[in-house]
Order: sequence, then structure tokens, then C-alpha cells
Amino acid sequence: MLTTKVKDLKFPDLPYSFDALEPYIDAQTMELHYTKHHRGYYDKFMAAAKESEYADMEFGQLLKEMSKAPAGIRNNGGGFLNHDLFWKVMTKNGGGEPDGDIGKAIKSAFGSYNQFKEKFSDAAATRFGSGWAWLIKDDSGNLKITSTANQDSPLMDVADHHGKPILALDVWEHAYYLKYQNKRPDYIAAWFNVINWDEVAKNFKNG
Ligand code: MN
Repeated sequence: MLTTKVKDLKFPDLPYSFDALEPYIDAQTMELHYTKHHRGYYDKFMAAAKESEYADMEFGQLLKEMSKAPAGIRNNGGGFLNHDLFWKVMTKNGGGEPDGDIGKAIKSAFGSYNQFKEKFSDAAATRFGSGWAWLIKDDSGNLKITSTANQDSPLMDVADHHGKPILALDVWEHAYYLKYQNKRPDYIAAWFNVINWDEVAKNFKNG
């Protein structure tokens, strides 16, 4: 996707059915999140970008100079990008402790899986307002936990901590309010049961 020209970007399929992540993420939330929110970001981004100087630019290049782009491009382009990763790093029958290289890298960076879980949960719970929590591979190849506001991505030049996102958690209220209301920590705790570690491992390896 990052090497695709902005004008040629396609809206991705959801890799599972709306009810696949029940009971942790309910079908109604998934349907609205994918068909209204994600679709909305994509449609608004394409409408703004197609007529702009960014139309023929590779998407990855736009992310690197997002600080210069109008807010509509930054917010909707980020919303399009971030949800694409979010769907992929979740799966039915996911969760558990990762093994292999990613498991080792997490232990080495954070001490243990449980310490990683605690730190990631804290980043997600304390992100004020709307935003995302991330596990990134930074520009030196180290794993780091970060968060961003709104729809900003660690791939954008505006990010405080730049790197390749390999795991993402959406903490906008639209991601959890129907089922969890104001209890964001309950949503975060449940979400660990749907992490697609195979996909995260792939992102880590290819990052
Ligand atoms: Mn969202």
C-alpha cells in the first residue's frame, strides 16, 4: 500500500465476518466501524487527494511529508491507513503469548509478555481523547510502545516516535462504546484475546 500512488489506493476488504471477533468485539460495532468509519475516512481522503498535488505521489511519501498537508488529508489519510492495519492484526481465536522471533523480541524489549501487556494497556488507556496505541519497530529496529492522537500514524513525520507500526489498537470511542460504554480498560483487556500474532510477526520480520 505504501508504494501505491495515492490516486490508485483501494478500499480493502475486511479479512473476516463482522461477528468473527465476538464476544470481545461485537458484530454491530465491527459493521459500523468498517462500513461507516473506515469507509468514510477512505472516501473523504480520496475526494480530497485526487484533485490535489498528492494524487500521483506514493502513499508512503505523502506520510513522510504529512506535516505540510491540509488537516483533511492528514486526518482522513491516517484513518484510512490505520484501520487497514487494525483489521489485519486481529483474528478469531487470536491472543495468547506470541512465540518465535516476535515473542523473543518482546521479552527482550519489555522484560516479559506480561510487562509488555501492562505497558501497552497503559498507553492505550491513558491516550487522552481519541487516538491509537502502537507497537512499533523504530528506525533503529527496536520495539517501542507509543500512542498518537486522532488518526496520526507513526509513519507520519508528525509522530513524536517515528517507526513502522506492527500492532495497532484503536481507542476512539467508536471502536468500543456500544459494548463497553465508558469502560475503555475493559475493551483493552478484551482486545488482547483477538491479537493476530502471526500477522504481527510478519510485520516485524518485514519491517
Ligand atoms: Mn476507528
